[in-house]
Amino acid sequence: MNTELLEKLRSRLGGKGFLAAGDAGPRYESDMSGNNPLSPLAVLRPGSTEEVSFILGACHASGQPVVVQGGLTGLCGGGTPLRDEISLSLERLSGIEEIDPQSMTMTVLSGTPLEKVQEAAAQAGFRFPLDLGARGSCTIGGNISTNAGGNEVIRYGMARALVLGLEAVLPDGTVISSMNKMLKNNAGFDLKQLFIGTEGTLGVVTRAVLRLFPAPLTRSTAMCVATDLGKVIGLLQFLQERLGAGLSAFEVMWPDYVEFITGHVPAIRPPDRRPGALLVLIENEGSQPGSDTVRFESVLADAMNGDVIEDAIVAKSEKEMEDFWRLRDGIGDVRNHILNAAHFDISVPVSSMQALVSGLHDALQVFPDMYRLTFGHLGDGNLHLVAGTGRAADQGAIFDTVYARVGAMRGSVSAEHGIGMVKRKYLHHSRSEAEIELMRRLKQTLDPRGILNPGRVIP
Ligand SMILES: Cc1cc2nc3c(=O)[nH]c(=O)nc-3n(C[C@H](O)[C@H](O)[C@H](O)COP(=O)(O)OP(=O)(O)OC[C@H]3O[C@@H](n4cnc5c(N)ncnc54)[C@H](O)[C@@H]3O)c2cc1C
Repeated sequence: MNTELLEKLRSRLGGKGFLAAGDAGPRYESDMSGNNPLSPLAVLRPGSTEEVSFILGACHASGQPVVVQGGLTGLCGGGTPLRDEISLSLERLSGIEEIDPQSMTMTVLSGTPLEKVQEAAAQAGFRFPLDLGARGSCTIGGNISTNAGGNEVIRYGMARALVLGLEAVLPDGTVISSMNKMLKNNAGFDLKQLFIGTEGTLGVVTRAVLRLFPAPLTRSTAMCVATDLGKVIGLLQFLQERLGAGLSAFEVMWPDYVEFITGHVPAIRPPDRRPGALLVLIENEGSQPGSDTVRFESVLADAMNGDVIEDAIVAKSEKEMEDFWRLRDGIGDVRNHILNAAHFDISVPVSSMQALVSGLHDALQVFPDMYRLTFGHLGDGNLHLVAGTGRAADQGAIFDTVYARVGAMRGSVSAEHGIGMVKRKYLHHSRSEAEIELMRRLKQTLDPRGILNPGRVIP
């Protein structure tokens, strides 16, 4: 342990900013993957960009490895400390700095929880459309660093599409301020992209300029029932044609998912359906209060009459909307019942989805006592799968089976959660050796001493 460095950091950061290992508690020992929790040497909680710069400058000079922590809702071990690492938590770097209504932007500090960003946008009459189940705990900096997706990617894109400018601190402490507010700016390299989706390996995000959107005047939600995945894909095409850009969510739940969630959380009730049917939660946003609902219902009636779906239940109240979303977000409520399972967030082109799902379900049958939860943001080609036998010993073989199949179909081993530690050894299924080598060279250039999130992402 480098006691001289720790003393220097303690005296600069003070009581609120420096927690010694023994005082920090279990919160900082692991992200939500829960894999290999470990106590960091100390937890640093900077309250300004200058303090982040001081910390990284000092750690760079001493060769001290640092792990960056946002809300720690990540699912691939990126924020979990490794041996002899110091944690740099962004939780005190939180708050909304500005809302610019004419430019439709919001400037925020990176440790601000996503839900606070959404609420501040709504209070100002706007919409910040990034949304995911962990909204109450995850931070905007974590969302940017993982290029988070979520429920409305089909309409608004992933986190990358919602960030106009960034401030980040390089591993040697240099502050890079690219706090651009403009939609169009081709003056040289778009440097913010170095820090979006690179999971804290190239720099620490400290502030961001986010894009806001006009708040939709109407929101219509329905739960559709489809007999099989072919019909679900037909429904997606049908709605894209008929609702156009208004379609803001298309979330699919297989029977294995619905039964598991409702079996463990009795308060969540599924709509009536035939055994084996898939549920599709759809949402449409519009700007015509007089006619949007009528149009939405008539499109769904056409889908039923045209044999695209079997049934559709349109939410008639805010409570019914929330109930539909509770089923989809229910995965967050059953985490304690899923032991030693492998969690996947994979993607393939929508046209390959049927082959992927049936191939995976077949391949996983070799594991006795296998349970599965299949669901996903299917409009984005993104499938979530939780698969386990309850036996830790089977986990590795389940990962190998699924990722080999995804690789063979030229899909992605991570649609949205990132690579972290957990998926590092599977990156080659989705990236060529030349691509991985370029990642290594970028890392080496920006972090020559390898102190920032070492060992994450790049094999
Ligand atoms: C119930 C549930 C539902 C979820 N649903 C989704 C979903 O729909 N879509 C989705 O994409 N993800 C989802 N996730 C995963 C997770 O919420 C996201 O990855 C989220 O973006 C992580 O944010 P965080 O602040 O918790 O980051 P953390 O877990 O703290 O960190 C994630 C990674 O980013 C790095 N990092 C964090 N903050 C910074 C920063 N300021 N600068 C540089 N690096 C940083 C960390 O080192 C780590 O590598 C879900 C998780 C849960 C538990």
